[in-house]
Amino acid sequence: LHPVYAGMPVTIFEHMSGLARELGAINLGQGFPDEAPPPALLEALSRAAAERSHQYPPMAGIPELRRAVAGFYAWTQGLEVGAESVIVTSGATEAVACAILAAVAPGDEVLLFSPAYDAYAPLIRRAGGVPVFVPLSPPHWRYDEAAIVAAVTPRTRALVLNDPLNPTGTVAADTELAMIASLCVRHDLIAICDEVWENVRFDGRRHRSLLALPGMARRTIKIGSAGKIFGATGWKVGWMVAAPDMAAVLARAHQFLTFTTAPMLQWAVAQGLEDPALAAGCTARWAETRGVLIEALGRRGFTVLDTTATWFTCIDLAASGIALDDRTFSDRAVREAGVASIPLSALWEGDAAPEGIVRLCHCKPEAMLLEAMDRLVRWR
Ligand code: GLN
Repeated sequence: LHPVYAGMPVTIFEHMSGLARELGAINLGQGFPDEAPPPALLEALSRAAAERSHQYPPMAGIPELRRAVAGFYAWTQGLEVGAESVIVTSGATEAVACAILAAVAPGDEVLLFSPAYDAYAPLIRRAGGVPVFVPLSPPHWRYDEAAIVAAVTPRTRALVLNDPLNPTGTVAADTELAMIASLCVRHDLIAICDEVWENVRFDGRRHRSLLALPGMARRTIKIGSAGKIFGATGWKVGWMVAAPDMAAVLARAHQFLTFTTAPMLQWAVAQGLEDPALAAGCTARWAETRGVLIEALGRRGFTVLDTTATWFTCIDLAASGIALDDRTFSDRAVREAGVASIPLSALWEGDAAPEGIVRLCHCKPEAMLLEAMDRLVRWR
């Protein structure tokens, strides 16, 4: 089989969750909440299961969900997009695949930042493209214009921006977004914007998308996820938002990947997005769990890096007095302490990965977080 896949390990998330299941460890690795999604969402799903069609829905998504996504973005981000700009996908990872397949031709270079979510580069390579990584530096992970410009060549076709950023939990500053947008315009790049964490931010500020910046409406593919908004990661309902003519082309990629997405899930998500209090309630709950984990880590002598978004908190091992690299820490912590985590260097390509940072997922019940912290302290 193809060398991109032959010899490739399973993702770090699958690997750590597998170990956690096998060893009975507390799983603070892969990002997913342990609490159920909002009751109103589950009620909508039951109604959909009882009353709505179980057959193929329209390829681009049911009209109710396409309208609801557009409405949600108008409400939460002041974005002016119509339903025809929204293409529903089976999770945001499918949306990433569609965007890359539709944008990248053999030989095209695509700019990415390290650390990066692990799906991007293999998809770019399989499309015949060449991923070019620009490293970000801890602890603030700022976007450096000179470093980005130095990575652009005449073959650069697109840029992938994940904002807020997984695994660091940081958010690009307005000035950084403006700088990246103007680079995209100047170098005629398509921006593939993985914004699945847009609603999971704790600084009280409205998410800003590159899509809304000058010159970007016709070159941005914005990707979102119901799994992240409502804490229902297994539903695998995501979407892409782009100018209507671009959306129509992106749909051609989607039609030969998954073609459609379970209609009862789409309908339930549409109902959920129409009540803004529901999404806000999820974020408010995660603000609590985030506070619990950060406080518990601090009280136990762990040094936590600043975060403003996502379900994740990163710890600095060396500053916490732990003389292990991140992979060794994660591997030993799951086996010896019974706590799964994600080593940041597993999400790094290019040279000089920081090797002392570990990601922990906070969207868990308080007792589980505290038990995990106690296990780490007893073990360390
Ligand atoms: N987005 C999830 C995370 O960062 C992982 C999803 C997956 O396992 N593919 O933890």
